[in-house]
Amino acid sequence: MDEYWKELEGKRVHDPLTQKHGDPVPRIWVQGPLIVGAGPSGLATAACLKQKGIQTLILERAQCIASLWQFKTYHRLRLHLPKQFCELPLMPFPSHFPTYPTNQQFLAYLRGYANYFELNPVFNSTVTRAEWDERCGFWRVKAVGEGKLVKETVVEYFCKWLIVATGENAEQIVPQIEGLEEFEGPVIHTSSYKTGGAFGGKKVLVIGCGNSGVEVCLDLCDFNASPHLVARNSVHILPHEMLGRSTFGLSMSLLRWLPLRLVDQILLILSRFILGDTARLGLSRPKLGPLQLKNLSGKTPVLDVGTFAKIKTGKIKVCPGVTRLSRRAAEFVDGSVENFDAVILATGYKSNVPSWLKESNMFSEKDGMPRKEISNGWKGECGLYAVGFTKRGLLGVSMDARRISEDIELVWKADESQIQIHH
Ligand SMILES: Cc1cc2nc3c(=O)[nH]c(=O)nc-3n(C[C@H](O)[C@H](O)[C@H](O)COP(=O)(O)OP(=O)(O)OC[C@H]3O[C@@H](n4cnc5c(N)ncnc54)[C@H](O)[C@@H]3O)c2cc1C
Repeated sequence: MDEYWKELEGKRVHDPLTQKHGDPVPRIWVQGPLIVGAGPSGLATAACLKQKGIQTLILERAQCIASLWQFKTYHRLRLHLPKQFCELPLMPFPSHFPTYPTNQQFLAYLRGYANYFELNPVFNSTVTRAEWDERCGFWRVKAVGEGKLVKETVVEYFCKWLIVATGENAEQIVPQIEGLEEFEGPVIHTSSYKTGGAFGGKKVLVIGCGNSGVEVCLDLCDFNASPHLVARNSVHILPHEMLGRSTFGLSMSLLRWLPLRLVDQILLILSRFILGDTARLGLSRPKLGPLQLKNLSGKTPVLDVGTFAKIKTGKIKVCPGVTRLSRRAAEFVDGSVENFDAVILATGYKSNVPSWLKESNMFSEKDGMPRKEISNGWKGECGLYAVGFTKRGLLGVSMDARRISEDIELVWKADESQIQIHH
């Protein structure tokens, strides 16, 4: 190993990684695990490891923790699931928080969490490359940061454990729709949508019928806009609460006693009773039940917080798929054409892992998600881990964080005892 470091030192002068301003790239050896991303996943894993006496280094591309929740969410957002299903390990939500905390409350909780566990990520540090180096037996992680004095600095970290916590929602998905560039009105992704303030009196086409799409439509109604919701595919829309309980909580309880298919049937009967026939209003249901579909494809049912009532009264119109856009209008698959003032893309997000992690055993290059089935995707080879890629939101994050910290602890303790034996 010593030889390896000497060789690296020798190569520094001719290093292709040399900074733009001529200085060599600093190389830093990280004693504990290196975590990429300071969202809920990165913070939860760092906290679990810290509790076991293992220090981590967190690199975060934004200038703050939980950048998704700070910058890419709309004002009216609340947690979709009750708080007991969303808390991170080792720290419950404050008891005065409502059942469904607001975005701001969730952020306050995360800041408190980072402070309590004294987690201090390196901000403005984007990981652009990470690769396992067989020769030295370390992960080599290249991060580009914005320094105060120089515009761009590159640092190379060496670590034994690499924890990917960059999220399922790292980059927005912008679909290829013919004529999108021609459209003359504003076109924004939901990640830039804050409120419907700018859309009052306007006819807005909302493309995408997931939780964000339906909630943005509801928000647009509050600002007197006229939203049109594009539902290209079938979708399960379920009431947010049933029988006085959260739909998620009720499903969890039923699953303890009943098979999944039967629980799906119960959810669909209750939904029909509460909402009516959604297909009649353009939102047809998939053939598989909501829980079965979630398990098989990760597709989350839409939890209705009032949008469906507006669809019933005609305040929100449901449209079929869009075939093309033109300067002011959209053409739909049924051949109809309508004018619009703005387009909002509620077309979701994707993982960015393939853009920086040079590895293809654990993560699929196609979608940047772990290849193994959902509950086993957290562990790869050579000390590589993934947290927050289970399509189970914050509940999945906590489960991964615990498992990863326990796994690393085993090796850590074995290493420590070896060091003691040597002494
Ligand atoms: C609008 C919206 C509402 C949601 N509501 C809920 C909800 O109510 N309940 C729920 O359970 N889940 C919800 N989710 C899902 C939510 O994304 C996750 O539960 C949670 O944010 C996952 O945390 P994470 O840390 O894995 O990912 P993120 O929160 O996305 O954090 C990943 C971090 O990694 C950083 N990063 C990315 N790439 C790099 C890089 N190359 N180098 C350095 N840093 C990098 C990012 O800047 C980010 O800060 C919602 C998602 C959205 C978009």
